[in-house]
Amino acid sequence: MRFIAHFDIDAFYASVAVRDDPSLAGKPVAVAGSHRRSVVLTASYEARPFGVRSAIPLYRARQLCPQLVVVPPDMAKYKEVSRQVFGVFGARGHIVQGLSMDEAFVDLGELELEEAVRLTQQIRDEVLLETRLTVSAGVATGKLIAKIASDSCKPNGLLAITPGEEEAFLAPLPVGRLWGIGPKTASRLQTFGINTIGQVAALDDASLKQLFGSWGLEVRDLARGIDHRAVEADRETKSISSEETFEYDVRDEKQLISALREQTRDIVAKLDRENLSAATVGVKIKRADFRVFGRQTHLTEPTRDAKRIFRAAVYCLKRAELNGAPIRLLGLRVASLTEGEAKQISLFDTTVSS
Ligand SMILES: [Mg+2]
Repeated sequence: MRFIAHFDIDAFYASVAVRDDPSLAGKPVAVAGSHRRSVVLTASYEARPFGVRSAIPLYRARQLCPQLVVVPPDMAKYKEVSRQVFGVFGARGHIVQGLSMDEAFVDLGELELEEAVRLTQQIRDEVLLETRLTVSAGVATGKLIAKIASDSCKPNGLLAITPGEEEAFLAPLPVGRLWGIGPKTASRLQTFGINTIGQVAALDDASLKQLFGSWGLEVRDLARGIDHRAVEADRETKSISSEETFEYDVRDEKQLISALREQTRDIVAKLDRENLSAATVGVKIKRADFRVFGRQTHLTEPTRDAKRIFRAAVYCLKRAELNGAPIRLLGLRVASLTEGEAKQISLFDTTVSS
């Protein structure tokens, strides 16, 4: 039987901070930037009982836990650790699909459950040996279950779900744990008396349609533990992005364009490092009212030429027609990545199309 493991480093940024500064051990630690709008990026397990968790504003975290030790992020270090960890994930030639710097699915292949568990434990041991960080893991026949399993056994756990027990494992869990069901949908479902995944699994076709529309059957399959999605090797699905939350909202287009210029530099450096070219360029915009939207464009050929990417990014920004609206965050993202650098054969500039 095919098994998939989901790995996730425990409290990644905070664990790295504690590892490199033993005086932090046992203390409530949060990793966060120092600017006015900083949010907690990661909280150590000692900070969590106070209600300190990722994505809450730093000032709120300090209110909840006055003795909180706040450590600035060190992205260069995290990237280095991430490289080591993914090196371990991929060391045996398995297909690895990264979800973030510290989280990935690994296709363990066709094997017995006991072997899958042994292999997963070996990978956990190696990550610990190489990085001195603990990684929790879930093992199952599908991605959703593997991910929920690893979330359920944090920190420093390994949980394997025996084939055939998927539905029973999911049934008592809150419906919000299902992929694609956000807090909004979850609270809407609650008004219909639906709180657990098991209740979704038991719905008839008509109710599914009424509650979820055309997506209903898929949701019920997931709720029943039916999940045939394969682990997809990284390169195909990958995108590279760079974004900035402004300290103060920005209305000035020139300032937005200069942010894009910096982000282009950042992205081109990453493309260079990984020997990739991109054929899709997009901008992500978060307005002061927190509305998020994007514009993207496809290039006629993949490139990692800074000028072309920058020009496409500015084109996308113009198409967003901001008209001086206050912008909180601006990001640049490239996708449709291919290996290598395309030959620059065209005499003309790349045309951008929408
Ligand atoms: Mg993690």
